[in-house]
Amino acid sequence: MTVDAVIFDWGGTLTPWHDIDLVAQWAAYARAYDPSDDGLAQRLATAEVSLWREQQASRGANGTGTLDHVFASCGVDTTQARHGAALASYLAAWDPHTLADPDARPVLEGLRQAGVRVGVLSNTLWPRWHHEAVFSRDGLAPFIDAAVYSSEIPVAKPHADAFHAAIAALGATPERTVFVGDRPWDDVHGAQQAGMRAILIPHSRLGDQAVDVDVTPDAVAMRLGDVLAIVLSWRTSA
Ligand SMILES: [Mg+2]
Repeated sequence: MTVDAVIFDWGGTLTPWHDIDLVAQWAAYARAYDPSDDGLAQRLATAEVSLWREQQASRGANGTGTLDHVFASCGVDTTQARHGAALASYLAAWDPHTLADPDARPVLEGLRQAGVRVGVLSNTLWPRWHHEAVFSRDGLAPFIDAAVYSSEIPVAKPHADAFHAAIAALGATPERTVFVGDRPWDDVHGAQQAGMRAILIPHSRLGDQAVDVDVTPDAVAMRLGDVLAIVLSWRTSA
């Protein structure tokens, strides 16, 4: 069976894993939204973590939610002008942590040159426009045929419907699509359950985000750049 499409996870896959202090990230928001509210950053971080725990507990069936769910649960008024400025500060605080892996562009470009369609499927609270800005900043946007973000759909990885949404967006089929990700459960297990082959990039320090799962990836890429040769070998051996 050959390969028509490759779908990449984003965090920890197209962009290298960083250990993040969520309270520090939300402090950038809180300083701009209401500097007198000492507990706001902590409450926002706690609300975000509870959304991720819900995603994990529901196996993606309930999705991830969005940043607006975080704001609503903390009583933030997103119609205020200061919210827009605070959101910009928050996203800017993430900039150093969202830079593309140096291998990303050559891999995506190489796949496209080989006639393989390229997609992205990310579990994310962020809006599409921010992900697209990040991809444009790092020169990846021209090489991505379709992207599906959990912030826009009712499910999330590892739910099969999330993978099938990304496959459909590429006009592909599961058995001829490869998924690349850094999480054994959300990415590898999820993709294989959805009928895809899965490549694991095993460097992310998942810590308490790790789910214990007995899974065997179809291949392991010790660096993102190795994905190109793996996929091309599956194509020629079809
Ligand atoms: Mg990831």
